[in-house]
Amino acid sequence: MTTDNTSGRSTIEVFDTTLRDGLQVEGVSATVEDKLRIAEQLDLLGVTFIEGGWPGANPKDIEFFARAQHELHLADATLVAFGSTRRPRGKVDDDATLRNLVEANTPSVCIVAKSSAYQVTQALQSTLDEGEAMIADSVQFLTGEGRQVLVDMEHFFDGFAENPEFSMRAIEAAVVRGASHVVLCDTNGGTLPDRVGEITSAVVAHVGSDVTVGIHCHDDTGCAVANSLAAVRAGAGHVQGTLNGLGERTGNANLTTIIGNLQLKLGHECIPPGRIERLTVVSHHVAELLNRAVNPQAPYVGSSAFAHKAGLHVSAIARAKDAYEHVDPALVGNSTHFVVSEMAGRATIAMKADELGLELDGPATN
Ligand SMILES: [Zn+2]
Repeated sequence: MTTDNTSGRSTIEVFDTTLRDGLQVEGVSATVEDKLRIAEQLDLLGVTFIEGGWPGANPKDIEFFARAQHELHLADATLVAFGSTRRPRGKVDDDATLRNLVEANTPSVCIVAKSSAYQVTQALQSTLDEGEAMIADSVQFLTGEGRQVLVDMEHFFDGFAENPEFSMRAIEAAVVRGASHVVLCDTNGGTLPDRVGEITSAVVAHVGSDVTVGIHCHDDTGCAVANSLAAVRAGAGHVQGTLNGLGERTGNANLTTIIGNLQLKLGHECIPPGRIERLTVVSHHVAELLNRAVNPQAPYVGSSAFAHKAGLHVSAIARAKDAYEHVDPALVGNSTHFVVSEMAGRATIAMKADELGLELDGPATN
């Protein structure tokens, strides 16, 4: 997080993983063509990083990165290839995952690393020393190849709760070998905001300004957005998530909500000036490309986010626009809608006519 001393506003990086983690959602698949179009939309919105996929995990992602080199002309965003640390007891030089990452030819790479002692000893059946070496060797190899290296610290919050000493060793291994970012992941999505804030503060205090601390949340408790904001409050300068909250299980942290909150509520700058009004159109365009409609009740961008049905509310809005709206919908490219129902009063009919550009006359609207 960098702070502008004159205004007190700080810049928070937005890292979009719609094209990697987001596509883990059931019932959605994207062609390479779709992925290229989505990346263009994300660049139009002004996110800092676009994670394009996991080259090597499937042929489609290898093709995506190959085509992206010639066909994708990003104005602002940096394209990122995703992978993992080297295998346990393996060597970086002959590791297929690391080789695929380098061959994706992106300026930045993001690797997932085991940062929970339990995961290293139980899931990997390895030792903690080897777990640390996997991170150190992989970061060193990739920085040596001239890449900016971000490290997703998998199961960080659960791991920290059980064995904070190892989780901090994992962070140190990445930082010492030159990672630009350590990203704290709530992989199982079960952590609540207070705890996210506490642990993020501890990491930020530990690493100081040597590296940017990031946050990556899943929405299993319905708190992914709140957790991301808690991390920012605790000093994280980088937020990962997906457009429209797409992702496995209950989804990833919803960037359309996070961007609205960081920028309009908390005064941070996370996308360039003049872009936030594209939030609604980009959210819907990406949803269309993936054939998965935006939740009508999604904050900021949903079709119902600024829809009013109750007669009392509509007549109040007729007098004072902000009476029942928390922000001006135009700020995020959305608009006020009036819903006509059996509950509608005269004000609703008049406002609906106005919304549709119709002129009414006669006694019914007096
Ligand atoms: Zn994830």
